[in-house]
Amino acid sequence: MRIATRVDEMKSIAKEYRKKGKRISFVPTMGYLHEGHLSLVDIARKDGDICVVSIFVNPIQFGPGEDYERYPRDVERDERLLEQRGCDVLFYPSASEMYPEDFLTRVRVEKLSSILCGKSRPGHFEGVTTVVLKLFNIVKPHVAVFGEKDYQQLVIIKRMVRDLNLDVEIVAGEIIREKDGLAMSSRNVYLDPVERKQATCLFRSMLLAQDMVKAGIRDTKTIVEAVGGFIKKFDRARIDYVKIVHPDTLEELEEIHDRARILLAVYFGKARLIDNMEIDVS
Ligand code: AMP
Repeated sequence: MRIATRVDEMKSIAKEYRKKGKRISFVPTMGYLHEGHLSLVDIARKDGDICVVSIFVNPIQFGPGEDYERYPRDVERDERLLEQRGCDVLFYPSASEMYPEDFLTRVRVEKLSSILCGKSRPGHFEGVTTVVLKLFNIVKPHVAVFGEKDYQQLVIIKRMVRDLNLDVEIVAGEIIREKDGLAMSSRNVYLDPVERKQATCLFRSMLLAQDMVKAGIRDTKTIVEAVGGFIKKFDRARIDYVKIVHPDTLEELEEIHDRARILLAVYFGKARLIDNMEIDVS
């Protein structure tokens, strides 16, 4: 596996592969890799000739008082896992390499960035779209793979690609879960044993929503209340939001007629966990 830490280094590697006619697939991450990330590497390898993974804890997508400093990091372990999984190139830049002192630009997808997680994390998605566009320009991928775990992020990136006419195909990878249903996340290490046990309530509450839809309930207020009520039974959980939205537009639905997705964010102590699930009528 080749490792690039500088932008110009990564750019020339990408140019070299493009010149040879290789299809570059790309998985952007913040590292501290788990099976969720690695499942995206598998997809990327199938969908391209050269698989590039980036590890970059992006400071501008963290708000003041958020966990930028204590975000878990272990690049040596990540390197081993990527090597084993068949990644061809690791791009691992420093913060100063990505953001020189005179950096001024921000990329913003209006509306979609200020709802749901954007409400409690102002500026977060602007940080995400800015770094992802930079990474696309540096890595020059034909295809980029993002997890449905960060569903709002996926929708925003698809919109940025469309709005800015970027030549990158966006592919989604399904959510990889622990045996008990908890969605894998680098932030799960923040959970103490009690919180970890209770955190399965996110998955279980979404199954409840799915069951209600299967039982013929279409009114989202009823479902959201039931889901909220279920989560509130767990004393360590503090709900940020529970919403049922259209999967493409993220617009809140009053009734479920066709396609729908439940999205939720719940605090457990220091950790803010997000999860989502399809709850289609079909
Ligand atoms: P992160 O390192 O948290 O920024 O995540 C990097 C990529 O991995 C994003 O596209 C995430 O959506 C994806 N990802 C994170 N956790 C999971 C998971 N449990 N299943 C599938 N994809 C995931």
